[in-house]
Amino acid sequence: MSRFEIYTFDAPVLRKKAKPVRKVNNRIREQLDAMLETMRAVSGVGLAAPQVGISKRMVVIDVGEGPHFLVNPEIVSQSEETETKWEGCLSFPGYLGEVERPVKVCVEALNRDGREIWVEGEGLLARALCHELDHLDGVLFIDRAKSIIEVDEDGEEGQGLSGVTCVFMGSPEFALPSLEHLVEAGADVRLVVTQPDRPCGRKQIIAPTPVKQRAMELGIEVFAPEAIGAPEAIERLRAVEADFIAVAAYGQKIPAQVLEIPKYACLNVHPSLLPKYRGGNPVQRQIMAGEQKSGVSIIYMSERMDAGDICLQKVIDIDPDETYGDLERRLGVVGAQALVEAMCSVYTGSARRTPQDEDEATYAPRLRPGEEVINWQAPAEDIHNLVRALSPEPGAVTRFGTERTKIWRAKLLPSQDSSVPDDTVPGTVVGIDGTMAVVKCGKGTIGVLEVQPAGKTAMTAKAFLVGRQYREKRFG
Ligand code: ZN
Repeated sequence: MSRFEIYTFDAPVLRKKAKPVRKVNNRIREQLDAMLETMRAVSGVGLAAPQVGISKRMVVIDVGEGPHFLVNPEIVSQSEETETKWEGCLSFPGYLGEVERPVKVCVEALNRDGREIWVEGEGLLARALCHELDHLDGVLFIDRAKSIIEVDEDGEEGQGLSGVTCVFMGSPEFALPSLEHLVEAGADVRLVVTQPDRPCGRKQIIAPTPVKQRAMELGIEVFAPEAIGAPEAIERLRAVEADFIAVAAYGQKIPAQVLEIPKYACLNVHPSLLPKYRGGNPVQRQIMAGEQKSGVSIIYMSERMDAGDICLQKVIDIDPDETYGDLERRLGVVGAQALVEAMCSVYTGSARRTPQDEDEATYAPRLRPGEEVINWQAPAEDIHNLVRALSPEPGAVTRFGTERTKIWRAKLLPSQDSSVPDDTVPGTVVGIDGTMAVVKCGKGTIGVLEVQPAGKTAMTAKAFLVGRQYREKRFG
């Protein structure tokens, strides 16, 4: 019996949309059998062909009731009722994500003999079906996960911080892995400080921050003062007598009186390689600038924002098509690991402390009004960077005829195309390739993949162009 190698983490094949199988022949059967063998060898419950480097629409699943071989599977129905549970993936060893999935799904597919079958799944089988079918579209569970945690693969408890007391300060999703990692590492998180409940989303419903929600689930006391510098807030923090204050995207400036409170240090998780990209918007700005490397810095907080001495940095590569949302999620996890590592080293007295080089410092401001508008005179690369920097929020904006639309997804095309005349106005749709619109830019062309006209849902560029009768097919 043969086995495959399992592709992991940022292997490009995991992000490709897999191709349908034309015919279930012996070669396909051999591949399915080897997939099952591969999955069983690592005690998995599901495996999709892209995970073993085969970009074809086939999966094997076995949740304990015998194997399902599914070729060209499609979800034909799913329950409205959903459940949120932790799930893992053979391509992300050592990680679990909390994912919302339908409780029941029905999938139509061809089986190992090429015959049409239906599989009705409930609970774990439904979850496995959704997870594996996602793989065929290049979608990974980390994209859907509300939170991601690292689990100790050896099954040992990572109690590196047991006996250490701390206050955690953070607000958005980005901060969740840091809170979770501290708890898992055995730290005694006695108080979580977060922003007050605020109206959010289109309906402006008053909602607690993601950090508040998680702290409540973890049974940790929550404190959400309007102003962290107020005397009663400072008193409350003092009363904890914490060894550390750990801060990840809290959202308020932390005054000097607070920085002095912990016995050891106030550590901050910042999602850039400081001194580059100080300030409130480092992740979007790094992608907009077309950076190829990113990382996290754990700093000893000082009164000047993001200017404190560096304790620890970790570097990661930015994928050429990575969006702001994807990168921020990854940096949240890397930041959490670095935070625990840094805290251990400070606690045990082995930490480093390197001042930042002020001459190298740059600043990452929030988006200014108008920055979200695509300038089609710009080189294709800049436009591509803008689109991914503004996805999933707030979206790069352009016009098409009289319509305002957002562009959610685009891709860079290899520079070429002598077929596009030089005098073509930038923004013009010069071709359709599959569901993608090829659009002329100031320099080069870009593939526009996903478009959302104002007031409508997102659609492929091809679907968008069908039935839009403007004389010129031109963006901008
Ligand atoms: Zn998976």
